[in-house]
Amino acid sequence: MSTTTVPAVPTFIAGEWRKISGGTPVFNPSTGEVIAECPVGGAAEVNAAVEAAATAFPAWRDTPPIERARVFFRYRQLIEEHFDKLCACVSREHGKTLAESRGSLFRGLENVEYACGIPSLLMGDSLENIARGVDCETHLQPLGVCVGITPFNFPAMVPLWMFPVALACGNTFVLKPSEKVPLTAVLLVELLEKAGLPTGVLNLVHGGREVVDALLTHPRVRAISFVGSTPIARHIYETGTRHGKRVQANGGAKNYIVVMPDADVPRTVESLSSAAFGCAGERCMAGSTALTVGAAADRLLPSLVEAARAIRVGPTDRATQPDMGPVISAPHRDRVLSLVASGESEGARVIADGRGIRVPEAPGGYYVGATIVDGVQADMTLAREEVFGPVLNVMRMDDLDAAIETANRSAFGNGAAIFTNSGKAAREFKHRVKAGMVGINVGVPATMAMFPFTGWDESFFGDLHIQGREGVQFYTQQKVVSTRWFGDGVGDVWKK
Ligand code: NAD
Repeated sequence: MSTTTVPAVPTFIAGEWRKISGGTPVFNPSTGEVIAECPVGGAAEVNAAVEAAATAFPAWRDTPPIERARVFFRYRQLIEEHFDKLCACVSREHGKTLAESRGSLFRGLENVEYACGIPSLLMGDSLENIARGVDCETHLQPLGVCVGITPFNFPAMVPLWMFPVALACGNTFVLKPSEKVPLTAVLLVELLEKAGLPTGVLNLVHGGREVVDALLTHPRVRAISFVGSTPIARHIYETGTRHGKRVQANGGAKNYIVVMPDADVPRTVESLSSAAFGCAGERCMAGSTALTVGAAADRLLPSLVEAARAIRVGPTDRATQPDMGPVISAPHRDRVLSLVASGESEGARVIADGRGIRVPEAPGGYYVGATIVDGVQADMTLAREEVFGPVLNVMRMDDLDAAIETANRSAFGNGAAIFTNSGKAAREFKHRVKAGMVGINVGVPATMAMFPFTGWDESFFGDLHIQGREGVQFYTQQKVVSTRWFGDGVGDVWKK
């Protein structure tokens, strides 16, 4: 398909929008059409963007926090006013349903709201008289130029996890969105410019490995926030820290949902179906494996299979909305299908089969129907690898201990959930399970803006997580000031 007539995605450097022709195609996954061309970028753009951010830093750092917050109050308003346009863009370039795009944008907006509270969040501690006549206080000061590198699966929410709080703290920023979904990032940056952000404070560059590596090694970059797959997260963490940067790098996941025999069946089916198939399974918090304990499988599976088969799949870029959209690309669809086939060839049973799905109204789109694979064993490739598609594995467990042990053997540690009516089972699970975000009768325990997004193990590389107070700590450095004033008391001003 020709890509010559589609618009080029602009960069935004030092307050200037610039189009560079040539690049990689951006697809509408609902139809397979090329909708834009994303520049590949290189060291020249990175240098210009980092220099612009470094130049803007001193004035922005000295802007009072309350004035910085006001920019985000205006930004919040502008996002609300352009909500539908932003959601349509997310659905068009990513393939989420409009309802899913709205949900994810709300989650992003909460981070803007959190950033509006920055004057209180930046307050330090103080203690009078740490020694006679000596007072001590802490200040949270910004770092300088920070960088955000984001994945394809949340084109609005993940960038909004990063730059609002980083900027509200007084840093300047360079955003590098996924080359698969760069268009929503352009809208987000345009709106912040409109909200009155000074020139150079936020910059936008595009590209893949070359641009990322130039950002990771640039001497003026102080901190890097990354969200994406585990191998790249590890690379970002290792390269960034080796070059003296502070790094928080969220990686991939494989999240387990334990279903106890006493779980409420209709509610569990609803939650599990949405955890596994929501956003076509392209969520780092997707509940991709059900660990059914004892009789739970027989109680649950008939209704779960029925629910999966009832999910209407189709294009998300038009007025009539499906229940589930496409996955991001043709190669990704093929990978999902081959992982299901690998499970089948290793002895698992496909009990809801979305592989042959036909979407006549959009034959060029990248569709996989909701799929459930029963009898998955821990050593199967399907059990170990992140599928990132609408596929739910079912692993049958004898008891809660076995379920917790299975979940804890995972290399990842993002989310885990239990469905039960037993407080004792829930307590045991939340205490012992090896995951940073835990749900009790909550299928997708993704945290909101005021709490950190606490992946563990191979789901996170770094010390301070994204969001919440940890996010503020990540984007600031503490200064502790101890003060003593000299005077003999005779002739001191207050005595005159
Ligand atoms: P990805 O790792 O392929 O890409 C993420 C970013 O890294 C993109 O901006 C991309 O341009 C860049 N990149 C890709 N290859 C690179 C390379 N070789 N060197 C340097 N940079 C490179 O991830 P994706 O496919 O866009 O997103 C899906 C993944 O993200 C899944 O694994 C998912 O679990 C994960 N994810 C994790 C979280 C979380 O919070 N833990 C949230 C969302 C998504």
